[in-house]
Amino acid sequence: MTRTKGNKMLLQELLSIINESVTFSAAVLEYDPHYDGEIYNSAKFQKEVDAECWVCDGKGKSKHGHEYECDYCNGTGKIKEFVTPFKELNVSNANARLILNMLEIDNDELIGGIKHEELPELKRKLIKLKNINTRKYTRDTVTDKGSVRVSKDEHGLSKISRGPTMIDVGVGQEQITHYIDTLLDLVDFAQKNNAAIVFN
Ligand SMILES: [Zn+2]
Repeated sequence: MTRTKGNKMLLQELLSIINESVTFSAAVLEYDPHYDGEIYNSAKFQKEVDAECWVCDGKGKSKHGHEYECDYCNGTGKIKEFVTPFKELNVSNANARLILNMLEIDNDELIGGIKHEELPELKRKLIKLKNINTRKYTRDTVTDKGSVRVSKDEHGLSKISRGPTMIDVGVGQEQITHYIDTLLDLVDFAQKNNAAIVFN
C-alpha cells in the first residue's frame, strides 16, 4: 500500500508540479445514471484511513510553542488519508506530454483513459521502451531569462524590462526509467483488478 499524499517524488518534479500536474492512476469504467453513460471511477480503489498528522508528528501540539493546538489536525494528532493499493504516478504537465508521446498516445488535453482491453498493447509498448535507448526523450534543464522588452512609461521615456523567467526542469534518464517502471506496475494492478488506467 502506498499513500496518495505521501508519495516520494524528486524535488525538481515536485517544484514543477506545484501549479500543474497530471496523475496516472487505476480506475474502473462504470455506468453512471446521472450522466447516462460510462465514466471512469477512480475512487473505487481509494480507502480512507486514519493516519498520524504529519504537521505535528501525531502529537497534536504545534511545534512552535507546546501550549498551542496543531491547526491541521485540531489537536487530535490524527488525520484522514486516502490510500490506494497501487502507486500513482504524479508528473508535471510537460512530463505527462512526454510520457504520452513515448506511448504514442495522442492527447493534447492531458485527460483520458486507457481501457482495460487496451492494456496488453500498453504493456507491450512499455516493455519495448524498457528495452530501447530512451535517451532521446531526456531534456536538459533550461532557464529562459525572458525576452527584453522596450516600452514607454507615462512620461514618454523608453523603459527596458524583461519578461518573466521560465524554468523547464527537464527530465533525466533515471526519471524516465522510473516512469516506465511505475506505469508497468500500474498496468499489472489494472489487469488483475479488471480496471483501466486514467490520467488527468
Ligand atoms: Zn497535527
